[in-house]
Amino acid sequence: MRYFVVLCVFLGTIFGQNLPFDLYKKGTNDGDTLLVIGGIHGDEPGGYFAASILQTHYTITKGNLWVIPNTNFESLLRNRRGIYGDMNRKFHHIDKDDKDYEDVTRIKQIMLEDEVDLILNLHDGRGFYRHNWENSIFNPAAWGQAFIIDQEVLNTTKTKYNNLDELAKLVSENLNEELIENHHTFNIKNTQTKDKDEQMKLSLTYFAIKNHKPAFAVETSKNLTQLVQKVKYQLKAIESFMDIMKIEYKREFDINNLSELEAVINDFQKITINDVIALDLNSIRGHLYYFPLKKQSNEFVFSHPLGSVLKNDKRYDIMIGNKRVGALYPQQFSYDEKNKNDLITIEYDETSTQVPFGTTLEVKNHFTIKADEKYRVNVIGFAKDGVENENDIKVEYKEFLKRFSTDPHNSTFRVEFYRDGMFVGTILVKFTL
Ligand SMILES: [Zn+2]
Repeated sequence: MRYFVVLCVFLGTIFGQNLPFDLYKKGTNDGDTLLVIGGIHGDEPGGYFAASILQTHYTITKGNLWVIPNTNFESLLRNRRGIYGDMNRKFHHIDKDDKDYEDVTRIKQIMLEDEVDLILNLHDGRGFYRHNWENSIFNPAAWGQAFIIDQEVLNTTKTKYNNLDELAKLVSENLNEELIENHHTFNIKNTQTKDKDEQMKLSLTYFAIKNHKPAFAVETSKNLTQLVQKVKYQLKAIESFMDIMKIEYKREFDINNLSELEAVINDFQKITINDVIALDLNSIRGHLYYFPLKKQSNEFVFSHPLGSVLKNDKRYDIMIGNKRVGALYPQQFSYDEKNKNDLITIEYDETSTQVPFGTTLEVKNHFTIKADEKYRVNVIGFAKDGVENENDIKVEYKEFLKRFSTDPHNSTFRVEFYRDGMFVGTILVKFTL
């Protein structure tokens, strides 16, 4: 499986502003450009996980796809609609001291770029939209399972995609051919914003409309029981728009196989910390204690577009969107930056190798660290009486206290390296039992 490993750096709280979002531009530079915006509401994971998967698991072979998967980043990490208020009501006017000011201003600039031909704003909405009242869940006031348009037609010659109603019909008919359950039908909700909806006049899509850019909100239902169902519908809708726009793509999974899609959603990839520690987030214990971190300015680099950390007074929570995949309880150290690019010799099983910090080494039975004598080596979960430096000591799996493993399967352990009281880096040893 091929990954676009794009680094997303979290450098502590940006004072006074929401966390910045990321824009990924994929494609071939000729042909039309679709802009997909996920996560404007932080408690709507169907939309933002779909956008994230566009970045990690799609290749664009013709035309262009621009993706913002983490629009209201801090809110989605905290699973809240908007920690600084409703971001989707700030597109008509926003005060300069609003904490969303920089994000909203940047989104507007991106939307107005000449290349952008069509815009999708992804949401999970309440209930199931129906033209006629059926009950409290299926009714005209609901938003779920609908394409939201502000008006039927854009009265401009600046775009060939000006019949919003017709385009939404095409896409919804396509989705309705293959529903997971019959009541998941998609409909078109025309808010007739100009005449009837003062609130929608403040929204992202109406800002686009006013600037002659076709825009749709894609709403899957919050009432769908599984995230994977929402993500599937979002991706199918986006694919339908790409088809209309003659944007061609390759996808690295079978979208109709829900368990395969679920595995894609739950692939949290990897985190690198301060360049010298790397953890596999698909196989990490819920809590890691005595974790060597700097007092401040720690650098957490995720390969997943929705990855970031949330710091509280005790720990750093490792987040992928609204999912907490692990937690680090820090022990403060100064870092030795001078030696961070050293290679460490390790003898293991019947062989020997040299590896940089941040490596995970697979071992069958035993290993011996053969570091420079200036290092103090601490093999976490291994202790021998009277030994303070575990350099040049043969270590076997059976000697470990399993609760110190970094993974829930008791197979991977930290080997930490120190020099002159400072921390240098970590190598993980993974026993392939
Ligand atoms: Zn929403």
